[in-house]
Amino acid sequence: MIETKEKRDRNDIFGMPILGFIFSNKYFIMLIRFLVLGLFAYGIYFGFVEPSKENTFTKELFWGLFWSLFMVVTLATFGRIFCGICPHGFVGKHITKFGLNKEMPSWLKNPWWGLMLLIIGWWAVSYSLPGFYRAPLVTAILFTAITAVAFLLFYLYKDMSYCKYICPIGSVTKAYHRVSSTWLGSYKEDCSECKTFECASACSYNLKPFTFNNKNSMQDCSLCMDCASACDAISFKLVKPSTSLYKKFKIDKIEVWTYILITAAITITMNFHHGLGRSPVAETMPWVQTAAYFENIFNFGAVDSIGLFAFLYAVVITLFLVYLGMYVASKTLKVEFSKTFYTLGYAFAPLFIIGGLTHLMHSFFTHTYADIANGFIYGFSLDVAQVQNLASRKDGWLAIFDIFKYLAAFWAFLIMYKRVNLFDASKSAKTIAFFFASLLIIFYLALNLSRFYIAKTQHNGSGMHKHSSHTHQSQARG
Ligand code: SF4
Ligand code: SF4
Repeated sequence: MIETKEKRDRNDIFGMPILGFIFSNKYFIMLIRFLVLGLFAYGIYFGFVEPSKENTFTKELFWGLFWSLFMVVTLATFGRIFCGICPHGFVGKHITKFGLNKEMPSWLKNPWWGLMLLIIGWWAVSYSLPGFYRAPLVTAILFTAITAVAFLLFYLYKDMSYCKYICPIGSVTKAYHRVSSTWLGSYKEDCSECKTFECASACSYNLKPFTFNNKNSMQDCSLCMDCASACDAISFKLVKPSTSLYKKFKIDKIEVWTYILITAAITITMNFHHGLGRSPVAETMPWVQTAAYFENIFNFGAVDSIGLFAFLYAVVITLFLVYLGMYVASKTLKVEFSKTFYTLGYAFAPLFIIGGLTHLMHSFFTHTYADIANGFIYGFSLDVAQVQNLASRKDGWLAIFDIFKYLAAFWAFLIMYKRVNLFDASKSAKTIAFFFASLLIIFYLALNLSRFYIAKTQHNGSGMHKHSSHTHQSQARG
């Protein structure tokens, strides 16, 4: 446990009874890390020895529990703690101590790798070949390959470069931690007299946590808590959600691109393919019609052409709205386009991470909870009865979780308002800039409202497209 600082602020988690223990007791943290590492290794092993569909354990462990349930829920609340217990980061820190500690070459030192692996390597493939990655054997092979690459790069390069530039999950956790309600920093009065900088020496990522408060940025901090174990001047505070986004900080372009591309690839595509694509008006949707047109020309084979076009439409529409909106905003504010784009683009952060909670909660009650529990029963051959779903899709009370998608839009508007006000311009210029820079948020809101309207007014329709039932299960887990 972290040596107790004489007086911790009331909102410092390290000073709180239960949370303080969870986040600061190094034996407890180590236990959790070993547990996660054990599950991770067993999940891969089980995927190889039981590659059939019967093996629901491997699938549910990786695609139900780790991603998306644990990751999205913790990222939206406590921040990047997924990285804090990640087996790759955990083992990687030890590998890197005995590694070659080379500088990563500049062509690899590019966080676009991680983001592109996620958007194209994962999402584009998932929509095109639904269910492909979730097969137990494919899951096992995929995570074996990722682990081999990660360990090799940890061995070769210093400062956890794999986490910073290559890890697809890292690109997500780094960007979205800004929406959470926690902040790792330090007590200024203690740091001002420090001569040893033990926190920085303890950090495998070569970060200086005593600069986080002033910079209003935690950079690549993975919340591993090694610095907190080394120095009791480190704080881990509960703060107002997304509070760093209301102020200035050094822009990190990849964070903005993560918000934009993840919103396109997950939030908007899901609304197209999984939302409108399952509604009575599905056949009238442009991605369905485009897919039908090209199906007459090409043989798509096993590829879900509708899923693929829904993804492409979502990306193109999202980019069009963002570029158009930011262009008009930059002209109105009389600020260069790039500065406008990256300053205001941070406002898109809540759309996926908060809006996604609606889908996540619906799925949890209607199948994820039971799927994960039954996966574990199977994986460990437990002699207990199968677990039933907590709710059915017809249960009206599930609608309470719809609040998250509207909260996400409201939250994004609020951040946009605060960030537009970071510019020095007239009130009318800011109002126009706010409207145009928010085009993606307005579109997101309109999409959700139209889905709600269609669901309320066309109960009896039956326009499900030909692939919808085929793709439904995989997307529902998205
Ligand atoms: S960045 Fe990736 S590899 Fe590193 S700790 Fe986070 S999830 Fe694990
Ligand atoms: S700053 Fe602290 S918590 Fe963050 S990565 Fe470094 S040692 Fe871990």
